Amino acid sequence: MIPAKFDYEVAGSVDQAVELLGSTDGAKLLAGGHSLLPLMKLRFAQPKLLVDIGRLSDLSYVREDGDRIAIGALTRHHDVANDKLLAKANPLVAATAAGIGDPQVRHVGTIGGSVAHGDPAADMPAVLVALEAELVARGPKGERTIAAGDFFTGFLETTLDAEEVLTEIRVPKAEGVYVKFHRRSQDWATVGVAVARSNGSAHVALTNMGQTPVRAEAVEAALASGANVADAAEKAAEGTSPPSDTAASAEFRQHLARVLTRRALEQALN
Ligand code: FAD
Repeated sequence: MIPAKFDYEVAGSVDQAVELLGSTDGAKLLAGGHSLLPLMKLRFAQPKLLVDIGRLSDLSYVREDGDRIAIGALTRHHDVANDKLLAKANPLVAATAAGIGDPQVRHVGTIGGSVAHGDPAADMPAVLVALEAELVARGPKGERTIAAGDFFTGFLETTLDAEEVLTEIRVPKAEGVYVKFHRRSQDWATVGVAVARSNGSAHVALTNMGQTPVRAEAVEAALASGANVADAAEKAAEGTSPPSDTAASAEFRQHLARVLTRRALEQALN
């Protein structure tokens, strides 16, 4: 439970963080530390240098940006959950943040850390995929915008380069529902289902049904062709390859995906 030896630097700006990431092979950003530090203690991660961005308060905000809401990557889950603008313009994101972990986790963990970590069991990634959110990253070559659907590439893997900092998450103004099944209160999702409604159509994405968040395309296609909610939800596990672990077998996860999708659609569309 003792991490391997590492160096530690505090970044005073995003540009300095990018520079520090480029200075050492195997450098990693530290935001809230709620996902990275446990991995380091188990020695699953052994960064040579930790670049602490936790004090970059200019990356902590929620603001209107045209027809979207921009959320700074360093915004804590608690602040996302209690933001008045999000409560009106995108209650799905606020409610999802409110259901992450416990109050201690929500006061320290950040939305950017949750996304950049790329954990298929994390709640916010599936919600951002269903919302067709945009993620903004800054690196040595400047800034780029990545569609949430292209961002997650594998288990704890994303398209972010080693020298890039995720700076902002942009979500549309939309309604939606996120439901998750967990064994104990405040636990990680065994399976989660996000339904986002915008421009008259429903987008559905699943948590913990594969190595990345999975867009439930068969459900969306069934709804678009006029299927009722129950019939569309029956297609939720199509094309998924969920893990079998101590929380649930793959078969039980596929059953959960169908049941939770029906419940989420009933809430979101009625
Ligand atoms: P860190 O741990 O600091 O970083 C995580 C990873 O992201 C690291 O690789 C880091 O280098 C990278 N990173 C961080 N910020 C950036 C950035 N801006 N740009 C690029 N890379 C970056 N999550 C859920 O979704 N649902 C839960 O129910 C849940 N329950 C939890 C319960 C417990 C007890 C704990 C400890 C955690 C739980 N979490 C849960 C995870 C929690 O939400 C973490 O806060 C989050 O996953 C990571 O955010 P962080 O700011 O702590 O990131």
